[in-house]
Amino acid sequence: MMPYDEETTEDYIFKIVLTGDSAVGKSNLLSRYARDEFHASSKTTIGVEFQTQSVIIDGKRIKAQIWDTAGQERFKAVTSAYYRGAVGALVVYDISRRQSFDDIGRWLEELRVHSDMSVVAMLVGNKCDLEHLREVSQEEGRSLAESEGMYFMETSALDSTNVHKAFQTVVTEIYNVVSRKVL
Ligand code: GDP
Ligand code: MG
Repeated sequence: MMPYDEETTEDYIFKIVLTGDSAVGKSNLLSRYARDEFHASSKTTIGVEFQTQSVIIDGKRIKAQIWDTAGQERFKAVTSAYYRGAVGALVVYDISRRQSFDDIGRWLEELRVHSDMSVVAMLVGNKCDLEHLREVSQEEGRSLAESEGMYFMETSALDSTNVHKAFQTVVTEIYNVVSRKVL
């Protein structure tokens, strides 16, 4: 019998991008999801990074390739390459920082310019553990997401609330879109 080769047995590879202002917690959401790690201090890395996570849906092997801006949010040169081929996006703000929510429109505009109409997008209000510092209500988040046709979830990379669920929902919905297209 041939040895099992993980590289060649994926049924799908989904590219998913993280966007949103600096310091909203994008890197920590990813490290919490992929490695169950949280980092109290921001470490800025040069260039774009991604992590992969294997998921099984409907018996299909899916590799979620999740891209993180790695501190390059303001550098437009990386933008097209970053979004190219993305089928999912988590657009993140910090519920304790109003400005990061006000900037969401800009991130959505960029997403729409650079990616396909059918991209599965979720609005993510991160740091929901900081209830005492909340500046954006859950209702505001939900209603913006509804008006933009996006999924919505509040998360905490610190205490893990909804982190797995947010990524899992996006991956599952991409799978639903893709498998409908194939049929
Ligand atoms: P990025 O610039 O969007 O990638 O943000 P980071 O993941 O680097 O996080 C920025 C800062 O916010 C760091 O100091 C993190 O420890 C902190 N942080 C990230 N997620 C959370 C969270 O869910 N709750 C709290 N309280 N702090 C968080
Ligand atoms: Mg980061």
